Amino acid sequence: MNDYAFFNARPFMTKKKRLRRDERRARKLAERRMENYPALLATHEYRGQQQAKVGKEPLGEPIESLVSKGFRHLQQFFPDLKKHQLVSEYRQRGYAYDTKWDDPLSHGLMLGLQQQIEGACNVLGYELRDGVSIGFLRAESTEAMQQPVMLTETSVIMMTENLYMLIHRTAKLLALTVPFKVVNGDQFKISEDIADAVALVNSNDQLREEWARLFIDHAVAPGTPYRGEVVIVTGKERQTMWEDLGDAMNLFVVGHEYAHHILKHSLSGSASVSGLDVDASHRMEYEADILGLMLSMQAGYSEASPNIFACFGVGAAIVLSVIEYCRHAAQILASGVVTHESRTTHPSLPSRLECIAQIVPEILRPYGPDQIEVVRRIHGMFVGIIQNAWNSAEEVLTRAHQQGSRPVYRDDGGWLPGRGMALVSDDYVETA
Ligand SMILES: [Zn+2]
Repeated sequence: MNDYAFFNARPFMTKKKRLRRDERRARKLAERRMENYPALLATHEYRGQQQAKVGKEPLGEPIESLVSKGFRHLQQFFPDLKKHQLVSEYRQRGYAYDTKWDDPLSHGLMLGLQQQIEGACNVLGYELRDGVSIGFLRAESTEAMQQPVMLTETSVIMMTENLYMLIHRTAKLLALTVPFKVVNGDQFKISEDIADAVALVNSNDQLREEWARLFIDHAVAPGTPYRGEVVIVTGKERQTMWEDLGDAMNLFVVGHEYAHHILKHSLSGSASVSGLDVDASHRMEYEADILGLMLSMQAGYSEASPNIFACFGVGAAIVLSVIEYCRHAAQILASGVVTHESRTTHPSLPSRLECIAQIVPEILRPYGPDQIEVVRRIHGMFVGIIQNAWNSAEEVLTRAHQQGSRPVYRDDGGWLPGRGMALVSDDYVETA
């Protein structure tokens, strides 16, 4: 029996230890900002320009009302949560924001991810050059991107809110789907058998429907997908899985974009992806996946209670799969078939998943026994859940296309090229 699948269920949000950790991170980040202040100041400004270009208004909502809204939402899951705990949590996080478009609460989440990935860079000895300005982009696409800022050693890294919401929703549904057994007291072990998970979904109409809707929502309005009904996740085991799965996916997405920055990919090729040959572009994506894995695995391992899903590269396999099937969903509703239009810039999903499944055991090799089989099983289980859900959604969407339904696009001239979903793509935009 392997001990990789044992988890320690823990209370959510309020642990003093975590508050202290967040406080430490906020302080470190502030120190780091002072060192690189002149270079990063211009980069924050450049990121603000990108946020302005998508045509959204700067956020003017005061922190108190944001906290109130957040509290009302969280109270549904954590009935014991007190408002002052939430306020104090955000205070200690330092709810910093760097541009007028950064919403202080969600920006705090991005700064937390930045801290984790930059911490991993330090441990593994990767040079961050002059640093990164990171944030959310309220663009009508589902992707993350890295852009070098010309004449500097900095980059802008952004994730769209759509991608963050997709990750959040996927993590919740997975947390409700994965069967587990409590082993003793606070320990639990998840099943490795995909049949258990499929049986659980098939026996629960509401869960099956939520899974199908995840893809259907992205097909119906790819630019502004409906974010789904409130799905309640209760129980400390499932809440632990929800949190760790979401973190593992986010860490891989941010780690992948940091990898492009560290490896200076956008500087080594031409300024536009269309000018690069397919092989060079695919090679850079594989490199970013591999370094992104190393960074996200290290970041997950450094947690007070290690994030097993990050440590085993599970977050990477899940997020790439769910993103790909959301793209397929929009393509099927639009044209009845999957068009694979992103293949010129990114390798195919099966190739990326195979690369990840091979690389994770290599990264783990110096730290213990051989994990090749374990990684295959646990990745197969999670990717299998996503595929099973996609298969049901695909049937519905194919029928809907035949009956004349098409995706709705609200084309308001966003700056991201194309109107499809170039997911976890990297947009090599030259700065003016
Ligand atoms: Zn990339």
